[in-house]
Amino acid sequence: MAATSDLKPDICVIGAGSGGLSVAAGAAAFGVPVVLIEKGLMGGDCLNYGCVPSKALIAAASHAEAMRSGMPFGIKPVEPDIDFTKVMAHVKGVIGHIAPLDSVERFRGLGVSVIQGTAEFVDKNTVEVGGQKIRARRFVIASGSTPFVPPVPGLDNVAYLTNETVFELKRLPRHLLIVGGGPIGIELGQAFRRLGSEVTILDAGPMLGREDPELAGFATTALLEDGVTLRDHVTVDRVERARNGVRLVLNGANGEEMVTGSHLLVATGRKPTVEGLGLEAAGIKHSARGIEVNDKLKTSNPRVFAIGDCIGDLQFTHAANYHAGLVLRAILFRMTAKRDNSVVPRATYCDPEIAAVGLSEEEACRRHDDIRIMRWPLVENDRAQAERDTAGLIKVISTKKGVVLGAGIVGPHAGELIHPWTLAVTRKMKLNAITGLVFPYPTLGEISKRAAVNYYLPSLASPWLRRIIGWLRRFG
Ligand code: FAD
Repeated sequence: MAATSDLKPDICVIGAGSGGLSVAAGAAAFGVPVVLIEKGLMGGDCLNYGCVPSKALIAAASHAEAMRSGMPFGIKPVEPDIDFTKVMAHVKGVIGHIAPLDSVERFRGLGVSVIQGTAEFVDKNTVEVGGQKIRARRFVIASGSTPFVPPVPGLDNVAYLTNETVFELKRLPRHLLIVGGGPIGIELGQAFRRLGSEVTILDAGPMLGREDPELAGFATTALLEDGVTLRDHVTVDRVERARNGVRLVLNGANGEEMVTGSHLLVATGRKPTVEGLGLEAAGIKHSARGIEVNDKLKTSNPRVFAIGDCIGDLQFTHAANYHAGLVLRAILFRMTAKRDNSVVPRATYCDPEIAAVGLSEEEACRRHDDIRIMRWPLVENDRAQAERDTAGLIKVISTKKGVVLGAGIVGPHAGELIHPWTLAVTRKMKLNAITGLVFPYPTLGEISKRAAVNYYLPSLASPWLRRIIGWLRRFG
């Protein structure tokens, strides 16, 4: 018989990061009893060690860069006097402004029962936290991820940084070595460079290897112009302690070589959190790649869903929020919707930003026999000219009949400019949905319309169309 103190909510959520908070807030809004368990900081990675501090650091770095780049506007460039302690205080301040929204107090106020502690399944229907048993109708695991640290010999013998510690730095690194040229390494590398560090980024493959190379090229060029050293296609064979820092022993096209820096940041990807959750006791299949789920985000235990980073799929805050919406619909309304990764946009907040949604050119070529690609360069956008920020382009991919398959943008505010294309991909719209819109002038957003119009340009020369115009002309 169940102990009287057992909690029996409708939903028990494990993890109060982006995904878990969304499920808990959504359920509470409908008046559904929900327990939320968090073992660390409320807000998870995004608020404390991820999106928020990284974007706050990037914002400070952009201000520094703006001071250096006034010349084309007739403003004398100055080398900014950077007080790193105050930069980091700004980063903490931004976290502090957002933290109340994710806090225990706010969630209790919403009607969520928040428990601080480590949740572990003890059987298929029960989670235990600090001796308290919770038997919920449904469970949602949103346990997130942690930095993946590759097993490079010597790494354990040096002090290295990850995203969990880099925002705790008290002094600006003199020379920051970054292993990993993905979004995290590139964003932080450019930010630290602009704040005054020497920065070297290393990757075993190309930089920003998951992005369309045509778009990524603009970002890597900008980083090189900023003075970041990029070393692609090199592997780190060994890590050694050096005088006042760290030495990496590399293996690349030139054979063995060394690079020495004052600090090392490991940014080689994220490891889904599957440990310590008692997944075996609950009969939930998982591997190092994450908790296994079906296309409705259900695990091998039909009572349990898993969302966000812990399923090892798209590791973004907005993906975790999207998952949260899907499982809430399934749990509260029995409306099962399949997750569709093609509708989830991605953005990297370097300068220029890169954003994309749907299929890339390469994926579209693999899946469709006949595609169309439309481009529009920022250099032909009046606002970009006025801002003197013309590096970038939009690239739109459609079927032969003009159904939008995907879009990618590189340039200022690409993360904002991708929205209409997310709508187009999600709703499977045709390009005329974009050509029919009126965009305010002069805005960067006009590049979307210009690219879409490109699709119809060949048809303007069609003899058939010209014959119709000629015929209509006869009516006056
Ligand atoms: P998390 O936010 O990691 O939350 C999981 C929570 O579960 C944690 O708080 C953890 O303590 C808790 N937990 C784990 N196990 C247990 C347990 N047994 N019991 C109780 N609690 C437990 N994404 C974007 O969309 N945009 C960005 O700009 C962006 N920038 C990023 C920058 C960096 C440097 C990093 C590292 C990530 C960035 N991300 C960004 C990714 C984003 O942070 C994650 O995708 C997002 O936080 C995932 O949310 P989640 O809810 O799945 O997990």
